Amino acid sequence: MYIRVSEIPREGLDVAARRGKGWIPRLLEGMDPSPLRTCRLLSAGLVLALEGRDLFADGSFVAEGEGSCDRCAEPVKVTLEKEFHAVLVPGERGPAGSTNVELHEDDLEIGFYDGAGVEVNDIILEQVALALPVKVLCAEGCRGICPECGADLNRNECGCSGRPADGPFDALRNMRNPKTEKE
Ligand SMILES: [Zn+2]
Ligand SMILES: [Zn+2]
Repeated sequence: MYIRVSEIPREGLDVAARRGKGWIPRLLEGMDPSPLRTCRLLSAGLVLALEGRDLFADGSFVAEGEGSCDRCAEPVKVTLEKEFHAVLVPGERGPAGSTNVELHEDDLEIGFYDGAGVEVNDIILEQVALALPVKVLCAEGCRGICPECGADLNRNECGCSGRPADGPFDALRNMRNPKTEKE
């Protein structure tokens, strides 16, 4: 949904309140949510306000995704929730184009817009992309799968040493240097 700067009233534009919420469910369609397999937006809110030509975008979203645990491959449900505060300055070339960027508060994210208007979907999409986890784990302490026998170590212990480097190579080393162990 494209919103022109000229449509934003002095008091700001609450996008969901003014335009409804029909744009939310389909917003993430076509996005690559990796490392998640799926990701859908449950709710989103965005208020746009102008200050001079700077466009302030304050919003939040809740998204739900699913992926597989990096260690044990069990399915994992992930909830992404974020509040964000961004300022979009006119221009596309970089911070050099705007002189007052450094006057904004520290926690503000800075982006750019063409000076005429913004695509609301892009703002939310970018925020969801930033909130995606680097890695999916079913639990911080997930013990994963035994590399030797394939047992799910969260469910049962296996009899393996847990040190896959041991084995034929150690035996070989001992055979070549039979004296090293005695010294
Ligand atoms: Zn796991
Ligand atoms: Zn094992």
